[in-house]
Amino acid sequence: MKDCLFCRIINREIPGKIVAEDDRSIALEDINPQAPVHLLVIPRKHIDRLSSLADGDLPLIGHLFLVANRLASERGISEAGYRTVINSGREAGQTVFHLHLHMMGGRAFRWPPG
Ligand code: 5GP
Ligand code: ZN
Repeated sequence: MKDCLFCRIINREIPGKIVAEDDRSIALEDINPQAPVHLLVIPRKHIDRLSSLADGDLPLIGHLFLVANRLASERGISEAGYRTVINSGREAGQTVFHLHLHMMGGRAFRWPPG
């Protein structure tokens, strides 16, 4: 989608530190990491937010989590633990309106989140 930051990174119109990609998703280093490991797993399909998901997107969402699991394992944080987050909407803290799964680890997190 035109004017979407993540679509533009996916289409290589602007740079991003892409660490993995497949037919349905890409994963990149977050530009402002909140943990030693902070990756974004992003569907190639433009879906603006979690609440816009359609029934047909269910396999895609599951896929994003499997990619996150694999990357956590590759980074050696799978056993210690990692956090996955999808912010949907302004009050949840969503700032980029192309659905993405945060995968963060390498430090201890608190609960509840701020
Ligand atoms: P949100 O707040 O929408 O859940 O997450 C957006 C994330 O995208 C933030 O963690 C932010 O640091 C990251 N981000 C914003 N702009 C860029 C960018 O140009 N490149 C990359 N790799 N990450 C970005
Ligand atoms: Zn997009």
